[in-house]
Amino acid sequence: MPTVEITIHGPITHGHDYTEVRCPTCSATHSHLIRGDLDDDAVPVTLTCVNGHDVPLPAASELDPRELLFTVAMRAE
Ligand SMILES: [Zn+2]
Repeated sequence: MPTVEITIHGPITHGHDYTEVRCPTCSATHSHLIRGDLDDDAVPVTLTCVNGHDVPLPAASELDPRELLFTVAMRAE
C-alpha cells in the first residue's frame, strides 16, 4: 500500500499561462502537501496548502491529480 504524502515546494502551475494553484482560504501558492495512493486509484488524491486547508484542483484544468501525484513521487525519489 504505497500511500504517499509529499510536500511540493514552489507553486503548482497549469495551463498555457502557468496559472498557479492557490488555496481558496489563505491564498497560499507554495508548499502544498499532496496525498494519495500510487497503486489504488480509488483513493482520492488530496491537496492541502501550507496551512492545512483543502485545496481543490481546478476542475477545468488539464491537471490530473493522479498524474500530478506520480510526477511528484518520481521527483521525490
Ligand atoms: Zn490555505
